[in-house]
Amino acid sequence: MSADLHTLGVAALSRALAGKVVSSAEVTEHLLTRLDSHQHLGAFLHVDAGGARAAARAADTARAAGQAGALTGVPVAHKDIFVTRGMPSTAGSKMLAGYDSPFDATVVARLNAAGTVPLGKLNCDEFAMGSANENSAFGPVRNPWDGTRVPGGSSGGSAAAVAARLVPAATGTDTGGSIRQPASFSGITGIKPTYGVCSRFGMIAFASSLDQAGPMARSAEDCALLLSAMSGFDERDATSAQRPPQDFRAQMLSVREGATAAQPLRGLRIGLPKEFFPAALAADVNGAVRAALAEYEKLGATLVDVSLPRTELSIPVYYIIAPAEASSNLSRFDGVRYGHRAAQYGDLLEMYKKSRSEGFGPEVKRRIMIGTYVLSHGYYDAYYLQAQKLRRMIADDFQACFQQCDLIAGPVAPTVAWKIGEQGDDPVKAYLADIFTLPASLAGLPGMSVPAGFGEGGMPVGLQLIGNYFAEGQLLHAAHAFQQATDFHTRTP
Ligand code: GLN
Repeated sequence: MSADLHTLGVAALSRALAGKVVSSAEVTEHLLTRLDSHQHLGAFLHVDAGGARAAARAADTARAAGQAGALTGVPVAHKDIFVTRGMPSTAGSKMLAGYDSPFDATVVARLNAAGTVPLGKLNCDEFAMGSANENSAFGPVRNPWDGTRVPGGSSGGSAAAVAARLVPAATGTDTGGSIRQPASFSGITGIKPTYGVCSRFGMIAFASSLDQAGPMARSAEDCALLLSAMSGFDERDATSAQRPPQDFRAQMLSVREGATAAQPLRGLRIGLPKEFFPAALAADVNGAVRAALAEYEKLGATLVDVSLPRTELSIPVYYIIAPAEASSNLSRFDGVRYGHRAAQYGDLLEMYKKSRSEGFGPEVKRRIMIGTYVLSHGYYDAYYLQAQKLRRMIADDFQACFQQCDLIAGPVAPTVAWKIGEQGDDPVKAYLADIFTLPASLAGLPGMSVPAGFGEGGMPVGLQLIGNYFAEGQLLHAAHAFQQATDFHTRTP
C-alpha cells in the first residue's frame, strides 16, 4: 500500500484513514518524499515538513480518540494567495517576500479545523494576475503532462500539484477563471462557487467583487468534501453569503426525480451558448467537449441551444473592472506597514515610488496603470461606468438562459495548455483566452471544470459547467454522474 499512497484522492484517503488502513503520518511522510522528487515542476513555493508532521500526528491522535471527521488527516496545500500563520504568504510577488502573516485566512482556518494537514504553499501568478503562472516572481510552473507547457493560471501550482499527485487536493482562487482554466489545462476537477460562498477574509485581494476561493482536486466528490469544509458565512467578509452550512457531498449524491440507474441525469437541460462554440475554437477542444456532451445525453440530459450574446464583451468589461479594483486594492503595498521597502530613498514619496517599482512585476504594474486610468476623472464615465452597466447585462443574459436550461456547458478555454514562453510579451493574447471563464465570473455564478478528454499533444481538455446562483450541489451532481461513467479524471500524466 505505502508505495501507492499518492494515488489516493480525498474520498479514497478518507476511507483508508477511517478504516485504519493507513495513518495520516504515513501518508504525509510519503507525500513529503514525493514532492521532494518533483521540485522541477515548481509547484510548491514553500514546504512545511515540520508543521505537516505535527498536524498529521495531531490528526492521528484525534482519530484514535474517536474525534475524526471526513477530512481529518487528509493532506492539502494552499495557493499562496491565502495568508497563513507560520508559513510565508507571498501572493507570488517579491512585494511580499518575507511577509509573515499574523493570522490564517478563513478558508485555511476552516480546513485546519476540519483536520486537514497543510503541506505548504503553492506557486501562482503574481497577485493572481495571469492565466499561465508565468507571472509569478518565483518562476514558472511546469505542466505535469508536458514539462514544456504551462499548467494554466493563476492557480498553476495548485493544478500541477494535484495533477502530479503530490497532494490529494489544493485550494485555489478564481477571479476570472483561475480555478477552472488551470484545472482544465492540467486534467483535474475544480469548482469556483457562487460569489460569497467562501470567505475572502485573508485572501490577498485582487478584484474584490470577483475574487472567490474554491477547491481543486481529482474528482467532483473530492471537491464536494473540500468545499463543505471551506465554505460558509464569515462575518469578517462583508460580501459573505448568509446561508446555513452545506453538505455538498450529500447534494452531489442526491437522486433526481425521474432518474434511472442508466440515466441519472434524466430531465436535466443543459444549455449550449452558441457563443461558446465559435469557429475559432480549436478543433481538438471542440471535439472533446462535444464528445463529453454526447456522454451527457446518454446519461439522460437534454441539450438545448441558448445564447449569451455579450460573451465577447466580457473581455473588455473584465479587463476594466478587475484592474480598477486591483489598482485600489494594491495601493496598500506602500512600503510602510508591510511588504517590500526600498533600501535607499530620499523622502516619503521616493520611498513609495521605489518600493512599488522594485516590488511589483510588469503585469501587476500594467494593471495598476490601466485601473488608475479607467477610474480617473474624465475616463470614469467612458470606461468604468460603461463596464459596470455591461456587467449587469451579462448577468441578466445568464438569467434569460436559465429560463431555458438548468446548467450551461461549454469549453473552459479555447485551446489546450500552451508552451511556456509561447505568448511572448503580448498580454492581450492571454486576455483573449479568458473568454469562456470571464462571463460566469462577472455574473458571480458558480462554474466548474471537469476533465473531458485529451487534445493536441495528449493534453487534457476540460468541460465547463456553469450553474445558477448557489447551484453548487447541482453542478457537483452533474459532474459526478459524468465521472461515474468516464475515467478521464482518473488518468495521470
Ligand atoms: N486570467 C485572468 C486574469 O489574469 C483571471 C485570473 C484569476 O482568475 N485570478 O485576470
